[in-house]
Amino acid sequence: MALYQEPRLLDFTKTPPHLQFNKYVLTGYRPVSTAGECLRSLFYIHNELGNIYTHGIPFLLFLVLLPCSIPWMEVDSTWICVAHYLACLCPTIGSVLYHLFMNHIGGQHVYNTLLSLDMVGVCLVNTLGALPIIYITLLCYPTVRQTALLAYILVSAYGIYCATTAHTNFLRLRAFVWQALFRFSLFLFRVYGTGVGSPESLRLFVIMDTLAALGGLVNVIQIPERFSPGLFDNWGNSHQIMHVMVVCSIIYLHWGTMEDLAWIRGFQCPAE
Ligand SMILES: [Zn+2]
Repeated sequence: MALYQEPRLLDFTKTPPHLQFNKYVLTGYRPVSTAGECLRSLFYIHNELGNIYTHGIPFLLFLVLLPCSIPWMEVDSTWICVAHYLACLCPTIGSVLYHLFMNHIGGQHVYNTLLSLDMVGVCLVNTLGALPIIYITLLCYPTVRQTALLAYILVSAYGIYCATTAHTNFLRLRAFVWQALFRFSLFLFRVYGTGVGSPESLRLFVIMDTLAALGGLVNVIQIPERFSPGLFDNWGNSHQIMHVMVVCSIIYLHWGTMEDLAWIRGFQCPAE
């Protein structure tokens, strides 16, 4: 006898309106559920299972494996390592909570809160993840560096406000543009100005941002399910593709930051 009788899954038209955000995903919707029932949905197939596991498994791997490769004691400012570690964890845990409990019995209010949490997680990987990049790029300009760190945190706070109040995927994607422009200007300062950092890390950071932007774009244009509604309900739809690209983007962030941290150990700012 089965330990748990899985519920009857719903079609798109039978699911609550606030869960009808992808009209090309036709079946596999969980019914409105209690927190316990949401947790039990980890163990049967439905159209959010792929979303939960594509971020759930990387979260656990990052949680356990990243501390082994972060040089906690070899960096002057340990907060850089802490910010980087949290940056790598934030988007995946926010996403898991959102996808796991989005059909909670609390309805649209709970859904909106969880969506905001998911968005904050994505904003935080940008915010916390960029702090080491700013710190290292402006290593030889301590005063400018403090101002830039503060400015980036303010830009990020605005991004979080935009992302949590946006009502469409396009507007949510747009909320990240300001942070991206700020990072891009840092990259330019490294290439054409007197910013410092490992020559190798810049390439890794550009790949990181490209993967994240492409993932966001795939999610907005809803490919491939747009071309074959119903075929990608449970596996392989645009949101899952975005999740995988976000995970790859985080890995590139980690590689780039580790490259920079290894590089500054042998670097001396030129005398004035
Ligand atoms: Zn997601």
